[in-house]
Amino acid sequence: MTELTPNYGVSRIEPRIVLNVSPSPAKIPEQWPAKGEDMGFNADVIVVGAGLAGLVAAYEAGKGGNRVLILDQENAHNIGGQAFWSLGGLFLVDSPEQRRMGIRDSLDLAMQDWFGSAQFDRLSDEDSWGEQWARAYVHWAADGKREYLRRLGWSAVPFVGWAERGDGSVSGHGNSVPRFHITWGTGPRIVELFATRVLDDERAGRTAFGLRRRVDDLIVEDGAVVGVRGAILADDDAPRGVSSSRTVIGEFEERAAAVIVTSGGIGHNHELMRRNWPTTRVGPAPSHLISGVPAHVDGRMLEITERAGGRVVNRDRMWAYTEGIHNWDPVWPDHAIRILPGPSSMWFDANGRRLRGMSGVPGADSIGAMKQILATGHDYSWFVLTQSIIEKEFALSGSEQNPDLTGRDLGFMLRSRLAKGAPGPVEAFKEHGVDFVVADTLPGLVAKMNAITRGPELDVAAIEREIVARDREMDNPFTKDVQVMVIHNARRSTTDKLIRVAKPHKILDPAHGPLIGVRLNILSRKTLGGLQTNLDSQVIGADGEPVPGLYAAGEVAGFGGGGVHGYNALEGTFLGGCIFSGRAAGRATLLPH
Ligand SMILES: Cc1cc2nc3c(=O)[nH]c(=O)nc-3n(C[C@H](O)[C@H](O)[C@H](O)COP(=O)(O)OP(=O)(O)OC[C@H]3O[C@@H](n4cnc5c(N)ncnc54)[C@H](O)[C@@H]3O)c2cc1C
Repeated sequence: MTELTPNYGVSRIEPRIVLNVSPSPAKIPEQWPAKGEDMGFNADVIVVGAGLAGLVAAYEAGKGGNRVLILDQENAHNIGGQAFWSLGGLFLVDSPEQRRMGIRDSLDLAMQDWFGSAQFDRLSDEDSWGEQWARAYVHWAADGKREYLRRLGWSAVPFVGWAERGDGSVSGHGNSVPRFHITWGTGPRIVELFATRVLDDERAGRTAFGLRRRVDDLIVEDGAVVGVRGAILADDDAPRGVSSSRTVIGEFEERAAAVIVTSGGIGHNHELMRRNWPTTRVGPAPSHLISGVPAHVDGRMLEITERAGGRVVNRDRMWAYTEGIHNWDPVWPDHAIRILPGPSSMWFDANGRRLRGMSGVPGADSIGAMKQILATGHDYSWFVLTQSIIEKEFALSGSEQNPDLTGRDLGFMLRSRLAKGAPGPVEAFKEHGVDFVVADTLPGLVAKMNAITRGPELDVAAIEREIVARDREMDNPFTKDVQVMVIHNARRSTTDKLIRVAKPHKILDPAHGPLIGVRLNILSRKTLGGLQTNLDSQVIGADGEPVPGLYAAGEVAGFGGGGVHGYNALEGTFLGGCIFSGRAAGRATLLPH
């Protein structure tokens, strides 16, 4: 087995991360079979996509005795797909980690939050399975998910994060309590839990990988899916995440009793995103969109599976973010990093007006903020903050941006999180990122912001009025400003007080300077709709019945049912959705259907 040290794109930081999950070179055929031939593996199950959902499905199907063939258009460096790049945040309910922090959570509270966020309104049709998946998934998050992962070797960072703090109403969107459990080892560790087991199966000859094999068609006979065919892509040793050649050198065809599609979402296919963008509900599609996912997240399999009889639902539901910054050291084209913000940065739209209400509080309500930003007719916004805020409140989403957590290095974690100064990767963005400007005075800062604006020039006097008004609200421990209320409220949560929310202070207090401005772009990430599936991950056809032989899991299936999240996500719910639906698919291939 080869050892893989991926390219993290952050050259000045040396993450101690080695992911031991590459298929043994001996099992990758030196000579691809001739045109149209199969690999001679004789699979019971074909899995299309070696991302997290595919690995989980393969692990479960293999555990039950199936011979599994995993096909992927990318090379061995990319096993694990998007999950490798993720922070490994998992939504868990009433966990020991929460209880240790004094957080009281319950199944009822989580269900109330999930359904308040999902706002399912297509129950007789597109949401009919998504709603059932939602119930099953929240139950599993409260009872079963943690144990399943713990048995495989999973553990969490002891601080539970509070993502999507809500739209301000108890029955609306948002987490009432912190539920974001970061995996100790972040995304690579989650991948490793399943990949090592699948590779054991591969060594034992029960599982095979067909890499650089792009599925272009599902083979349908007598109404049932019986296999796949596609293109063999030229060998390409591109490092993980780097987009690879699409030169075709041959064709292949593989047959099996079951085909599980786990090909991911549409986040790097901006054309498809724009075509399905919910303009009426959210505002015009951004013309400047940057990519929070690698190029292989191309959405092609949706149309291919549709052609084979599968039904795609909730195409207009997407989970893009408003806090995107251009990666100063990109791995994939248009590489965007998301800031996971604490609540204290002041948020201004392109016209220099402060965002209003709860959705104007960073990290509270992603879609609500998106609506306010796009309503200006522009596709960007601004954070104005202090050095004290960036040090405590800026986290960057991604395994490579958190080398201490990813490398499972306790000493490094304590040094970088508790010491003075922002963590290295955040400082690197402040120094090199095209979206960051720094100045000692507000006029100096606004002048620098205007130098990088893509729209109207900001008026320094108007920005100053807003900041001074907000700063006056800091004189008391109570306030009428909703953002300041959120800051005081957050400081009552132990995690927030310790590592996430800066001590309340005035933005214009030089003791907390310098001032920082960040141009925030819209970045693509998750696809909330997709192939409609029943609770066994069987793909539903136009007649409402499962298409025989066809299964789907992970992001391509809207993380279960064609949309387990409805309109809004509570975060940390995507990896878990891949695991839950991949597990269901793998197990279902063992059932007599
Ligand atoms: C930076 C980042 C941070 C994230 N953080 C979190 C987090 O903290 N918590 C959370 O819950 N979620 C997070 N996510 C989201 C989560 O990682 C993804 O939603 C999830 O990993 C998707 O897994 P998947 O297996 O469905 O698809 P993918 O990982 O996209 O894998 C699909 C695979 O299918 C292959 N494929 C596609 N089409 C074909 C074809 N035609 N033929 C052959 N192969 C094909 C692709 O090459 C790819 O390898 C994050 C994502 C990113 C990018």
